Amino acid sequence: MSGAVMSPAGGCLYVVATPIGNLGDMTFRAVQVLKEVALVAAEDTRHSRKLLVHYQIGTPLVSYHEHNARQKVDPLLEKLRAGQDVALISDAGTPGIADPGYRLVQACHAAGICVVAVPGPSALVGALSVAGVPTDRFTFEGFLPAKAVARRSLLQDRAGLDQTLVFYEAPHRLLAALNDLLEVSGPDRQLVVVRELTKLHEEVFRGSTAEALAHFGQSAVKGELVLILPPSEDAPRVSMTVALRKMLEESDLSRRDVVKMIAKEYGVPGSDVYRESLKYLDDAD
Ligand code: SAM
Repeated sequence: MSGAVMSPAGGCLYVVATPIGNLGDMTFRAVQVLKEVALVAAEDTRHSRKLLVHYQIGTPLVSYHEHNARQKVDPLLEKLRAGQDVALISDAGTPGIADPGYRLVQACHAAGICVVAVPGPSALVGALSVAGVPTDRFTFEGFLPAKAVARRSLLQDRAGLDQTLVFYEAPHRLLAALNDLLEVSGPDRQLVVVRELTKLHEEVFRGSTAEALAHFGQSAVKGELVLILPPSEDAPRVSMTVALRKMLEESDLSRRDVVKMIAKEYGVPGSDVYRESLKYLDDAD
C-alpha cells in the first residue's frame, strides 16, 4: 500500500472528487485512493467505469445513487465495519455537492466510521473562480426549481439581495430562468453564465439579463452550466452603524481613519460617526 489510504481497525470512507469534464483534472491522490480501496461506490457505474479504465484502476464498482441510497447504505457500512476501505464518487465533481452522498457520509459518522475528504473539482467553485464576482460571501442555491411558479418566487425572494448567488441549471431551462429573472429584476440585472467548464466549449458569459437572452436565445442551449447572480445593485445598503461596526472590528485602520471613511461614504457629519463609534467601544467593553 502506498499510504494514500489510512487503515485503522475499521475501514474508512473516502469521499473522492473527480473531473467535471477534463479528465486531466483528476488529482494524483484521487487515483491512488481509488486504486487502493476495496470498493468504489459510484452514481452511474457505466459512466464511472470509463474514468477508472482511463486511469487503469481495477477496483470493483458498486452503484450508489439517489434512488437506491437507502438500500445501499447498510451493505456499505458492513464492508466498512469489516475493515474494507470504500471510496465514494459521483458522476462528476465533488460527491455531496448537489449530489447523492450525504446519507452515506452521515451514516458513517453515526457509526463511528472515519470519513476522509479527497478534494478536487467542483462546478460550484470552478464557476465562481472564473466569474469575476465578489466571493467573500456567497449562497449556493443548488438547482433552480423546475416549475415556473416556484422558480419565479425563489428569484423574487433572492435576486435583490446584496450577496452573490450561485445556481445549477439544466440547459433546456436556462431561457425560462432568464425570462423569469427579466420579469423579476428587469433587463439590466447583471449575471454570469459559466458553461461547459473545463470542456472544449467552455464559456463565461457576463452581461445583463437582456443581453443573456439575446445571446443564448439564438439556438438551443447545450451543455452543463452554472448561473451566478452577483450582488444586486438595487439591494439596500447596510446602515451606517452596521458598516462602521464591521470596519472597526475587521480593519487595521485607526478609529480616526475609520470614522473619516464612513462619514465620507455615507455623507454624514464626522461628529455623528464619532459618537456612534464611542457607543461601539462601550458595547465592546
Ligand atoms: N457534485 C457536482 C460538483 O461538485 O460540481 C455537481 C453535481 S450536479 C448533479 C450537476 C450540475 O453541476 C450540472 O447540472 C451543472 O449545473 C453543474 N456542472 C457540472 N459540471 C459542469 C461543467 N463542466 N460546467 C458547468 N457546470 C457544470
